[in-house]
Amino acid sequence: MKKKRMILISCIAGGCLLLGVLGFVIVKYIAPELVLTLNGSDEYVEVFADYTDKGANAYYGAPMTPHIPVDVTKEGTVDTKRPGEYVIEYKSHYKKFTASVRRKVVVVDTIAPVITCDLTELTLCYGQPYEAVCSAYDNYDGDISSHIQQTLTEDSLILSVTDSSGNEAKRVIPVKFVEDNEAPRITLLGEKDYFVDLAKGYTEPGFQAVDNCDGDLTDKVKVTGLPESGKTGVYTVTYTVSDAAGHEATAERTVMVFSKLPDSSREEEPSAPTVYLTFDDGPCAYTSELLDILKEYNVKATFFVTDQFPSYRDMIGRAHNEGHAIAIHTLTHDFSIYRSTASYFEDLYAMQEIVKEQTGSYTDLVRFPGGSSNTVSARYCEGIMSTLTRMVEEQGYHYFDWNVASNDTGTTDPDVIYQNVTSGIAGKNHAVVLMHDLKPASIASVERVIQYARANGYRFDSLCATTSPVHHPVQN
Ligand code: ZN
Repeated sequence: MKKKRMILISCIAGGCLLLGVLGFVIVKYIAPELVLTLNGSDEYVEVFADYTDKGANAYYGAPMTPHIPVDVTKEGTVDTKRPGEYVIEYKSHYKKFTASVRRKVVVVDTIAPVITCDLTELTLCYGQPYEAVCSAYDNYDGDISSHIQQTLTEDSLILSVTDSSGNEAKRVIPVKFVEDNEAPRITLLGEKDYFVDLAKGYTEPGFQAVDNCDGDLTDKVKVTGLPESGKTGVYTVTYTVSDAAGHEATAERTVMVFSKLPDSSREEEPSAPTVYLTFDDGPCAYTSELLDILKEYNVKATFFVTDQFPSYRDMIGRAHNEGHAIAIHTLTHDFSIYRSTASYFEDLYAMQEIVKEQTGSYTDLVRFPGGSSNTVSARYCEGIMSTLTRMVEEQGYHYFDWNVASNDTGTTDPDVIYQNVTSGIAGKNHAVVLMHDLKPASIASVERVIQYARANGYRFDSLCATTSPVHHPVQN
């Protein structure tokens, strides 16, 4: 009885097992289902790199049955321009079945920034603060120069920078430390010969001081020797500065304080050193501008006039009315006038009439074309200058040469003319300066010449019959 029951239980259990196995086989190999599979797996992508999604595949079926392809939809995107974690979800459904899978895509920045510096090595003074000018560029963050950290050790300058993803770049620049053995350098701004109008007063044109170790020392410069207020004159302004190591530097500037108005005490004292500006060969297109300058400074000059540019004859009248002396140079300025005394005086008298027409009177002042020492006249007539210098005086004329040559016929540089005239004036008590109103460079230099003379204590005057003459040795 007991044995029979055992057999029955075994049969039921065996049947159940068989049914179970059969069910498993049906479900696993024969019963269809929705299968969704990821192509590839999770991914790491470098920032800015190209990324192509590999997608996913879905089918409905079982291993032992035909597979029916099923559409897959995708949600989520990857922005390779921004580092971070992205999730893409794939979904599909078929009849009552649904399935989903996910892919994680991590966009990373693993590239370190690059530090760019013009430095390969450095020499610094002990204690000198130093900051290198370098730039840092990162493939993702762009310009991160302002994030550069600089550390000065006892033998190197360490530059480092980290990008937003934590990638670090580093540069080590070897440093040699030395003692400061150089004086600072002072640079004067503005002109070294500095002209100051007394009425306006002194304004510092500026300076800069730089030391190899201490850097900018401009604020520490001491300025001495400034002009006394209310006085014309020539002053030496001195600039002094010292560096931390005790080296001193100095620079000097010559300051010439001039007055646009003549110093009345000096004007009344004819024995004071006097400059006679004389202008030959005009009047011409530039004479008007020259007269304006002379008027502004109340300087009286002498014009040795010609008739080379007849349309400017009225400038003779203007110059006369403004207090300048009018003197005869020549009508034509043609050296062939030296072929005879007659042709010389014919030219002279014709010019004299123009002078009278413009000023109302004749003049008794003369300057020979080429000066009394000219040798060009010998080509036309041997010995003519000896005769003419005597004859003009017999006729009551006073002839003037010059003792300061501007050489304005040999240059177009106003600075050169200024140098020629001022160096010629220096030390003379009685300077007769030859210039030409026909030369624009002379007009351009004349204001500075006046300023120089005024600052150096000269007075100006025009020539007249009683001015002690300046004569060259006659050579023909
Ligand atoms: Zn001339």
